[in-house]
Amino acid sequence: MSRVKVRFAPSPTGPLHIGGARSALFNYLFVAHHHGDFVLRIEDTDLDRSRREYEEEIIASLKWLGITWNEGMEVGGGNGPYRQTERLDLYQQYAEQLVKNGQAYPCFCSEEELQSERQEMMGRGEMPRYSGRCRDLSAPEIEEKLAKGLKPTIRFRVPAHTVYEVDDLVRGKVHFDSENEGDYIIVKSDGIPTYNFAVVIDDVMMGITHVIRAEEHLSNTPRQLMIYDALNFPRPQFAHISLILGSDRQKMSKRHGATSLIQYREMGYLPQALFNFLALMGWSPEGEEEILDREQLITAFTLDRVAKNPAVFDLDKLNWINAQYIKKTPLQELGAMLRPFLQASVYAEAVAALDGYHFALLIEALRDRITCLADAAEQAEVFFAEPVYEDEARAILQGENTLAVLEAFRKKLPEFNETVEVKQYIKNLTKELGLKPKDVFMPLRCALTGQTHGPDLPYLVMIWGRDGTIARLNAALSLVH
Ligand code: GLU
Repeated sequence: MSRVKVRFAPSPTGPLHIGGARSALFNYLFVAHHHGDFVLRIEDTDLDRSRREYEEEIIASLKWLGITWNEGMEVGGGNGPYRQTERLDLYQQYAEQLVKNGQAYPCFCSEEELQSERQEMMGRGEMPRYSGRCRDLSAPEIEEKLAKGLKPTIRFRVPAHTVYEVDDLVRGKVHFDSENEGDYIIVKSDGIPTYNFAVVIDDVMMGITHVIRAEEHLSNTPRQLMIYDALNFPRPQFAHISLILGSDRQKMSKRHGATSLIQYREMGYLPQALFNFLALMGWSPEGEEEILDREQLITAFTLDRVAKNPAVFDLDKLNWINAQYIKKTPLQELGAMLRPFLQASVYAEAVAALDGYHFALLIEALRDRITCLADAAEQAEVFFAEPVYEDEARAILQGENTLAVLEAFRKKLPEFNETVEVKQYIKNLTKELGLKPKDVFMPLRCALTGQTHGPDLPYLVMIWGRDGTIARLNAALSLVH
C-alpha cells in the first residue's frame, strides 16, 4: 500500500464521546500499522454550537487516551490552517468554481418558502427535498436579486439519474441513487460552508487516502462523492464503522451512563485500559487474548477484522480490563494515581499521616480490590473507619474459640515491621492453639473489621499499628463477653 493518510475531524460541539474516541482510535491504529500520517482537523462550521473549550477538551481527551497525530491542530503542517473557520476563502474559491461551471447555483429561497414547500411535499406523501425553484434563474434574475441585497445560499446541482457507489472497506459496496437527493446547500447565506462540502475540500487538500469514520456518515457519503466528481478530485477509500449500542441494544446515549472520556478519566479508568477496550469495540484480534497493549494492537489491527454489526458497550468488560491494567501497574505508579482519589476521600487525613512504606502497603492491599481508581475511597474504609459489625461477623464472634483466639492474639502482640511477620505471628498462634487456620483467621477478621471479607489481615494490622489493632480487639471483645 502506498503511504496512507487519515484524519480525525471532530466538531467541537461537546466533549469527546466514546464513539468519537473509538473513531479516532481506529484511525490511529490503522495509520500506525501502516506507518502513515494522521491529521487532526477541527470542523467548527456550526458556529452556534462550536466552542473553543470543547476543542481544548477534545484535544486533551485524545492526548490522555494516548492518541497522537503528526499533522494538524497543535503540531501544524503544510496543509493548514486546520480549523475549518480559518479556511473559508478556500471553500469560497471552490464554490465559485462550481457555480462558474454550472455545477452549483445561488438560491434565494427564504426559510419560509422552503418550509411551506416541504410541507406541501409531505402533504402529497413525498419525501421532502428542495424543489429546484432557483435552479434555472437567468443571469439578470440573479443580478437583480443580488442588487436588492439578498444573500443567497449556494446549492449543488445534483446530477440526474446517477448511481453512486461507495466501495466501503467495512460495509462492502453500497449504492445510492441521485434521484433521492435534492439539490443541497454547500455554502450557507453567511458564507459558511456546510459539512458535506468542507469535508471534501479538506480531505482532498490534506491528501487523505482513507476516511475512517462513524456509520452515521455513510448516508452523507453520496453528497460528498458528487463533490469529488464535480471537481475531478480523486476519491479516497471509505470505511464506516458501526454504531455503538448500550447494553439494551439502543444507540449509546447518556441514559447508559458515562459517555464522555472525561467522565471515565474522572472515575479512574486507566487510559491504557480504555484504549484496549475501545479497540475491541467493533474490531477483534485473531486469537483469544483480549488484553493487548498499544504495540500489540497496532500490529494486529486491520480494517478487514472490523465488524459490520453494531458494537455493544459492555461496562463489565471495561471494568474487567481496567482491573487487569491496575494489577499490572507498578506499585509506585499506582500510588501516584490513587493518591488524588484518596486525598479527595473522607480518609484524606489518615492517608496523609502514613509514611511512604505504609502508604505503599495500603496501595498493595487496594490493588487487587479495585476495578477503577475511584473505588479506592470505598475500599480504604476498612483501614480507617471504625468497624461496623455485620450480622454474619457477629455470629462468628460468638463461636466457641473466639475469645481464646482474640486474647491470645492480643497478649503478645508486638509492633510489626513487615507483613510477613504478621503472617508468621498468626501462624504460630494457630499452632499454639491447635486450631485450623480458618478458625483463627475468621474470628480475627470479624473482630478487627466487622466483616467476613476484606483485604489480607497482615496489611490491615500493619496499617493500624499495634495500638490501633489492640483498640479494635478491645472493642470486639466487649461484643464477645
Ligand atoms: N465533523 C464530523 C463529525 O464530528 C466529522 C465526520 C467525518 O469524519 O467526516 O462527525
